Amino acid sequence: MKTNEQLLDTLNPQKKALFLEFLKRVQESGWNIIITQSYRTIKEQNDLHTLNNSNAMGGYSAHNYGFAIDCNFEKGRLSLKKATDKGIWICSGIPQIAEECGLRWGGSFGNYYDPIHFDCVFNGETKRWNNYLIKTYGKDYDTIESNKINWLFTKNT
Ligand SMILES: [Zn+2]
Repeated sequence: MKTNEQLLDTLNPQKKALFLEFLKRVQESGWNIIITQSYRTIKEQNDLHTLNNSNAMGGYSAHNYGFAIDCNFEKGRLSLKKATDKGIWICSGIPQIAEECGLRWGGSFGNYYDPIHFDCVFNGETKRWNNYLIKTYGKDYDTIESNKINWLFTKNT
C-alpha cells in the first residue's frame, strides 16, 4: 500500500496544490483521509477497462493525467466509501469543499456514481489530450509519464 504522500506525489505538478488545499480543509473539518488511487498510466487504465468496461478506456480518465484522486474518509465510526449513499456523502460537507476548491466530485456524475473520485478535468479535455498523445508519441504513448506533461501550456491540443 502506498502512503497518501506517495500517491499525492504522482499528481500533475500544475494542479497538485488544488488537491492539497482540498484535503487540508477536509482534514480540518475532522475527517481522516485514505487515498486509494491517484495517477494511473494509460496502460493501467486499459487493463482496468478490460476487467470492467464501466471503467474509462486508457487516455479518457482524469487519473491518466495526474488530475484525479480516489479517497475514502473516516470520522469516528462513520466511513465514506464507494458504496455509501449520496445523501451521507453530501451531509459530510466534503463534496461542498471540493467544489469550493475547484474540483469535480464523482458522486454527481450522471452516468456513473463514483463518490470517492475527485478531479479537475472539465469540458472533455481528456479526449483532446488523448488525441494529442497518440499523435505525438505514436504506438508507445501508453507507457509515457502522462502526469508530467505541462498541459496548460501545451500547444496544438
Ligand atoms: Zn477515480
